[in-house]
This record gives sequence, structure tokens and C-alpha cells, in this order.
Amino acid sequence: MKPMKKRRILLLLLLAVVIILALPELFHQNEGKSRTTGSAGKGKIENAWLIPYTGENYRYFSPLSYYLLNRGYAHHRAHDAILAAYQTCETTCPGVQFRLMECGNKHGGKMWPHRTHQAGLSADFMLPKTKKGKPHRWFDRLGVWHYALQTDNAGNYTSGVAVDFETMAQHLLALDDAARKNSLRIKKVILKIELKDDFFKTASGKKVKARGIYFAQALPDVVNQLHDDHYHVDFTLE
Ligand SMILES: [Zn+2]
Repeated sequence: MKPMKKRRILLLLLLAVVIILALPELFHQNEGKSRTTGSAGKGKIENAWLIPYTGENYRYFSPLSYYLLNRGYAHHRAHDAILAAYQTCETTCPGVQFRLMECGNKHGGKMWPHRTHQAGLSADFMLPKTKKGKPHRWFDRLGVWHYALQTDNAGNYTSGVAVDFETMAQHLLALDDAARKNSLRIKKVILKIELKDDFFKTASGKKVKARGIYFAQALPDVVNQLHDDHYHVDFTLE
């Protein structure tokens, strides 16, 4: 067989494998209620709901994570709260395009390299960014590599791009409201410890503080270093 032909067959085979792996997400229907057992650190979920890949002002960050690793699932109440919060942000954060990062597996359980995310009640949210006071989205397109981004302790990436802490806080306020409406509570937010003072300095960050939304106080170094490109939220069922 000619090498060209062989390569084409291999590519077609690869494409077929990718499509087969993506079938559960392409045809998933959200219905009924989710049931979660155990905890975020050791848990499972039945009948998880799949969060839509895109919405009016958000999109999931990686097709690999969503379609091949099946990590866009959550408890139906978390699903509803996440979507409702983005809907609120259409008004409170006009012009911002958000990115949702990894949530959970279809059946929960271990999800490398996360230590939690096991019970359908955890989600990672990409930190919104600005450059010269305007939303900046170039880094948002890095897919799974976004997790490798690093800031300094004031929330600056490279080339004048910085974390938009005010928008993050607006989103958390919306998420807290949406969680309550869906019989959930925000149990914990994880953000790199060194970034918290910058976050709480913003007008909306002060409101987050006033509501008493709990932020992790101390973290193992490796976990701390990972939470400077996204913030992690654990929900708890009421
Ligand atoms: Zn997380």
C-alpha cells in the first residue's frame, strides 16, 4: 500500500475513534434528577447532567475535556445554578465571554489530576482577564493547557494581561444567588492564597466577603500553585 493511502486510512480510523468516543456527549439528554453519594474527594453521581458546551456568554474551555474525557457533567442542581449565573452575568458583566473549565465525570469518581470533583458538585471557572481595562481572551483559547498558566502574586500574566477580579466577583455573586435558588450553597471557593487580597479589594469582592462565602484559607503548595488560572467551587446540597 502506498504511504499516502496508508496515512489517509489511519487518519480516517482516528477520526472514527474520536467520533465514537464523543457519541455519549453528542446524544446525551438531560432528564430526571441526579443522585450523589459520598463527598467531592470520594464520591459518585448517578444521572449527572451535561452542561451545554456553549451559551450566550460562555463556552466550555476544551473539546478534548468535554467530548473525549467526558468532564462536562454535574448534578442537575449545579447544572442549573451554573447556567443561571451565566444568564445573570449577561446583564451584570456585559461584553464578557466566560469559560467553564472541568466539572465532573458522567458517573463521578476519580478525575486525574483533580483531588475532588467526584460527586458532581464541583466546577472550575476560568479566571477572566483584562488588558488595558478591556476583556482579553487570547489566553482563554489554550484548551487544557490553560491550567498551566501562571500569574505573579498580584494576578498579572505576561504582556500586560491581568486577572479581572471584579468580573470574577460579579460571577461569584451571581453563582451564590443561583445556588440558593436551586437548593444549593457554595461550600468553598479555592483561589491561590496570594491572589485573595486583590480579589477582596474589588467592589464586588467586598460584597462576596460580606456574604461570608468561604474561601480556602491554606492550601498545600501544589494545589495553591494550580489555582491562579481558575477558581474552583464546591457546592453542597441543602
Ligand atoms: Zn477544581
